Amino acid sequence: MVDLKGQYEKIKPAVDIAIQEVIDSTAFINGPAVRDFQAEMEKYLGIKHVIPCANGTDALQISMMALGLKPGDEVITASFTFIATAEVIALLGLSPVVVDVDPDTFNIDPAAIEKAITPKTKAIVPVHLFGQCADMDAVMDIAQRHNLFVIEDNCQAIGADFTSSKGWTKKGGVIGHIGCTSFFPSKNLGCYGDGGAIFTNDDEIARMIRGIANHGMFVRYYHDYVGVNSRLDSIQAAVLKIKLAQLDNYATARNKAATFYDNAFAGVKSLKTPVRFSKSSHVFHQYTLVTDGIDRNALIEFLASKDIPAMIYYPVALHMQKAYSDSRYKEGDFPVTEDLCRRVFSLPMHTELDTEQLEFITSSVLEFINR
Ligand SMILES: *Cc1c(COP(=O)(O)O)cnc(C)c1O
Repeated sequence: MVDLKGQYEKIKPAVDIAIQEVIDSTAFINGPAVRDFQAEMEKYLGIKHVIPCANGTDALQISMMALGLKPGDEVITASFTFIATAEVIALLGLSPVVVDVDPDTFNIDPAAIEKAITPKTKAIVPVHLFGQCADMDAVMDIAQRHNLFVIEDNCQAIGADFTSSKGWTKKGGVIGHIGCTSFFPSKNLGCYGDGGAIFTNDDEIARMIRGIANHGMFVRYYHDYVGVNSRLDSIQAAVLKIKLAQLDNYATARNKAATFYDNAFAGVKSLKTPVRFSKSSHVFHQYTLVTDGIDRNALIEFLASKDIPAMIYYPVALHMQKAYSDSRYKEGDFPVTEDLCRRVFSLPMHTELDTEQLEFITSSVLEFINR
């Protein structure tokens, strides 16, 4: 699904030197490489505070802790997402409230958010799924009217631009009160291990995030809050600084591959190609098709027989997961998500796909469909 080796080969000299520098300095934790990357990331996103942490799941958890959310508080999120989003809500004793998504963009449905709000609702966590932003105009409008926090789960859409109907354009992840991302190796901005970051323009929220991520400590060895230990190490930061400089080029390469897929599958009735949301650029974390009337598993097996990987993101909706079974929800409650879970699949999507590979992948998919 990804080609991290091919990508590394192109930046190898710079990466090898940067890693060696960290080792020579022995500043493995909170070294200058972390501060450098943080400053570059703040510039790139156009935001006041980037707080690096250990992974995207921690970023979400620390955000909710920093906002002072309390057990029983309701947090609204999308039913079609990676489990981490709901996991941290549940772990903190908060109540995950699930809402359906838009069938075209796969992102949270604002009308459904509005309906799910109760006096206990404290926050909304929109997920910018597969590489494009949710409708942040609508999400922010709802949040303002109901006095709710917004935490953007931007683990899959780092670098995507959101253009508001009011005229401004901002990076996804810097529109809500807090944004979160992951630097897991296969993400659009991936490091060579685990990593994550939290974004905010709010000085007080930033102070809380830094303290919570550092054992709830604001003055050394005085612990005002129960915190966690979550850091980005210097080697990862050094790698990320180099890859951040390439992030827009990476998005261009992903879009080129996506356009190739789009053209190859245009007019194929049994495949719906990804719909571009008018307010967001797409950075194609995944290229996800919706099948219609074909045996999805047989297609994936057929591709596997030709050594072409294909994956289902995601086969089971949040409310249908065993660990998240909840008397409030049953099968049929989120028809769009449940339908997508039965029909979607994703093709290889990364920065190193060449025409020969794309031709082989698309012709193999078409061979299955036309046989
Ligand atoms: C990857 C991902 C996460 C978690 O990131 P980790 O770094 O693996 O903890 C959270 N939410 C979404 C939508 C993701 O894709």
